[in-house]
Amino acid sequence: MQPKLLSLIVPVYYEEEVLPESYRRMDAVMRSIGIPYEIIYVNDGSRDGTMKILRELAKAHPEVKVYSFSRNFGHQLAVTCGMDHAKGDALIIIDVDLQDPPELIPEMVKLWQNGADIVYGKRLKRKGETLFKKLTASIYYRVLSSMSAYPIPLDTGDFRLIDRKVADVFLKMRESARFLRGMSAWMGFEAVPIEYVREERAAGHTKYTLKKMLSLAADGILNFSSTPIELPLYFGILLGIVGVLGMIAMIVCTAVFGSACPQWLWLAVGFSLLLAVLFCFVGIQGFYLGRMYDELKDRPLYIVAETLNAEE
Ligand code: UDP
Ligand code: MG
Repeated sequence: MQPKLLSLIVPVYYEEEVLPESYRRMDAVMRSIGIPYEIIYVNDGSRDGTMKILRELAKAHPEVKVYSFSRNFGHQLAVTCGMDHAKGDALIIIDVDLQDPPELIPEMVKLWQNGADIVYGKRLKRKGETLFKKLTASIYYRVLSSMSAYPIPLDTGDFRLIDRKVADVFLKMRESARFLRGMSAWMGFEAVPIEYVREERAAGHTKYTLKKMLSLAADGILNFSSTPIELPLYFGILLGIVGVLGMIAMIVCTAVFGSACPQWLWLAVGFSLLLAVLFCFVGIQGFYLGRMYDELKDRPLYIVAETLNAEE
């Protein structure tokens, strides 16, 4: 079946310098595919000339749709707004700054037409980013994927194409701390990587401040890993073992050496056993909290990817 519409979702935050060139390149690529398309810009509270440019674009091109936030809600929510309003059979999420080459989109569309539900960009190399950013990103992706209960692909950002059925699941997930890559990994579906070199920003500077990056990093770990809340329990168990071993050592020591054995060590044994009990209870509370958090997220209980001889 020939797809009827493709939706390109582009979050924008103080991007007047790059926006005109970005539109030109993205529009040329979308036009070359030969499937009708819409370009959805979400202005995430920019107060520079961004809106002026978007107004002109929307006026001149009916396929350009613009949603403008009342303030800065952050990149992940800007993308979410785009997904909420996209009408396409496939949605493509891309940064405005041309770091993710729009020229890859036709190939992504081809992979999608060949059956992939998700086509995600995997960065082979990152150009023009500070060593600090490259290093922290690389370490973070690895820590996250080792902690996450669902496999989050390494070195992958939000540049991706998703099928309509994947987008529909996103619409059902209304958790407010959003880490889209993790949500995508949680959902499953057939995900195919497409490798690329992440380019330098075409103009302007990064809008992801250290604070925003840390907050996104925290969302990734807190939303997709229960390791942090399980730690106190494990620590408590470890401390308990140490306490019990200490107690045995003290009993043996006292039996062999009598009062020559330093009796004050009993204090250390008692102390670690007491702390062990305390840590275990804190850990157990963590498990309850984690469950409450999961319930609050109110995610779909399951996701059907395909049905045969059956109603959807
Ligand atoms: N962005 C946004 N809201 C923000 C920060 C960034 O919508 O609060 C947009 C930005 O305009 C760009 C994309 O998110 O299209 C990625 O941001 P940026 O390129 O600054 O991040 P980096 O590539 O440096 O991680
Ligand atoms: Mg960028």
